[in-house]
Amino acid sequence: MEDCIFCKIIKGDIPSELVYSDEFVVAIRDIHPVAPVHVLILPRKHFANLSELAETDSGELGSILAAVARAAKKIAELEGIADKGYRLINNCGQDAGQTVMHLHFHLIGGKTLGEKLI
Ligand code: AMP
Ligand code: ZN
Repeated sequence: MEDCIFCKIIKGDIPSELVYSDEFVVAIRDIHPVAPVHVLILPRKHFANLSELAETDSGELGSILAAVARAAKKIAELEGIADKGYRLINNCGQDAGQTVMHLHFHLIGGKTLGEKLI
């Protein structure tokens, strides 16, 4: 996707602070952190959001979601918050407040997260 900021970050055309990467995902530090640890997990392949990913075949869907879960665990270990825990958030669409139309998951932690909606 030519005009997608996260695709450009994944390609290395826009600088970012890389935290983790593998075959399926790239993880970078969020530029506006809401917690001491705030990392964005970006699937390498462009999907606008989780609903668009859900339309792909089960094999690819499973591979990407598995990669996100495994990356989250590794990032928590790298960031030293594996024992204390973390929250993984996906904003899908307008009412959820999604602002970047490239599927991503926010991994936040490093403090007690008080703003629990559910
Ligand atoms: P969302 O509101 O769920 O779409 O989240 C988009 C997130 O991307 C926000 O938390 C932004 O701070 C973050 N963001 C936007 N541009 C960049 C960038 N160039 N590098 C790192 N994070 C970014
Ligand atoms: Zn993209």
